Amino acid sequence: MSAWRTISLWMDQLDEPLLARPALEQDLDVDVAIIGAGYTGLWTAYYLKRLAPGLNIAVVEANIAGFGASGRNGGWLMGNLLGEDRLLADLPAQQRRASFDLLHGIPDEVEIILEREGIDCDYRKGGVLYCAARYPEQEASLRQYLDSLYRQGLSESDYRWLTPRQLAQQIRIAKPYGGIHAPHVATIHPAKLVRGLARTVERMGVNIYENSPITQWQPGRLRTAKAQVRSHWIVLAVEGYAATLPPLGRYQLPVQSLLVATEPLSAATWDEIGLSRGQAFSESSRQVTYGQRTADNRLVFGARGGYQFAGKLRHDFDLTSGEVALRRYLFSELFPQLKNVRITHAWGGNLGMSRRFKPHMVCDQASGIALSGGYGGEGVGASNLGGRTLADLILQRDTDLVRQPWVIPQGGLDALKTWEPEPCRWLGYNAIIRSFVHEDQTLANPATAPWRRKLVSRVAGFMEGFMH
Ligand SMILES: Cc1cc2nc3c(=O)[nH]c(=O)nc-3n(C[C@H](O)[C@H](O)[C@H](O)COP(=O)(O)OP(=O)(O)OC[C@H]3O[C@@H](n4cnc5c(N)ncnc54)[C@H](O)[C@@H]3O)c2cc1C
Repeated sequence: MSAWRTISLWMDQLDEPLLARPALEQDLDVDVAIIGAGYTGLWTAYYLKRLAPGLNIAVVEANIAGFGASGRNGGWLMGNLLGEDRLLADLPAQQRRASFDLLHGIPDEVEIILEREGIDCDYRKGGVLYCAARYPEQEASLRQYLDSLYRQGLSESDYRWLTPRQLAQQIRIAKPYGGIHAPHVATIHPAKLVRGLARTVERMGVNIYENSPITQWQPGRLRTAKAQVRSHWIVLAVEGYAATLPPLGRYQLPVQSLLVATEPLSAATWDEIGLSRGQAFSESSRQVTYGQRTADNRLVFGARGGYQFAGKLRHDFDLTSGEVALRRYLFSELFPQLKNVRITHAWGGNLGMSRRFKPHMVCDQASGIALSGGYGGEGVGASNLGGRTLADLILQRDTDLVRQPWVIPQGGLDALKTWEPEPCRWLGYNAIIRSFVHEDQTLANPATAPWRRKLVSRVAGFMEGFMH
């Protein structure tokens, strides 16, 4: 069995043999060299080739296509961008609405390409259910969130409040307090998407080299252990692996997210739970949880993981019993009938977190450096937007895409915000996450006194403010 199969449920489920493509053994001269064969690198290659078929493009990947977050994620393909509310806050109302529409359209754009290129990745656009599912404070915070969306000009057709009874028509959870439904989200099989994209760009004439880690980079030049690449453009598409390409790690910190998958569940169990249209769902604590019912009827459920001192990458994703138990506890709170269900797969990955939690799409014509990342756990859709945007920026196309507030059209990496030096980052991150866990444990205990509930929520809310 290929070792790549152990990366995730998704990689394990692929029909293909999962053999690495040839490594880069000889020096190359190309127009565009892309580091990383995840969604960002492959979407960038795709749109560049569509717009300029004559370009000579090479994708250089340390492992195999889909080794990173793109082959591991929870499969929420969102028509959103992390921090979009803060990014769009200062725009005039009409422009803000146009930007929201652009983001909401991401799943439809992906669907068009899946159909055009014959990529089957179990795409289902059932929207997302943000559920107030464990304690009453979740209802209050979701209602606040909804109000803030409406204040920005969004409407019921974008985000709609569901009473417990309306929620139960889509998902049946033990303690429903209500929820929000948003239609602009699809669920997918992540590995089928990334592997399908790799085959598609190859068919279009892009060369992909695997097992070829880049060890040094500078404008116009890359090096692996065996060869060098000269290129007019260098695209940095490594997201959570930015630490491998100094100084990129100062701008995109690796944070983990960890998931479990159950065995396929019976039709009777799904009749009890619902989720019949491929809806994504979460329970709205600050643990950042996400779930979906897979095409083969498993429950996949994840929650945010840790951060290692000095931005060290986590390589071993054999989850500890505590990490699995936390995820089992969280989904069993929603679906008590799954308390003892068999978990067949547990895995995780590194994602890239930018300072202030705002994703960035950067292009510097002077140095020939482009990058898109810092999606902070919401990159399945954002990477499609990133690929489209980088293609337009590189080809100097004057489109709506390049005029968005997340685009940094010049200045390169220097235009990005850096993270604080250690030990501030580590201490800060862990203090914030601890306050979230403490809040969750306190609020989940119905015996907690009202004054304590308020206090822990205030503290966690205050700590969350530091992230922005
Ligand atoms: C567990 C988990 C769950 C997630 N769930 C969701 C979700 O449900 N919805 C959502 O929107 N987002 C989710 N995300 C985030 C999303 O998956 C990522 O934002 C997205 O996949 C990033 O794609 P990418 O191509 O930029 O990076 P990656 O997919 O990480 O690809 C980077 C590639 O670069 C390669 N690489 C690294 N260093 C080098 C080097 N030096 N030389 C050559 N190659 C190199 C890596 O091997 C890797 O293949 C999740 C992330 C994780 C980890």
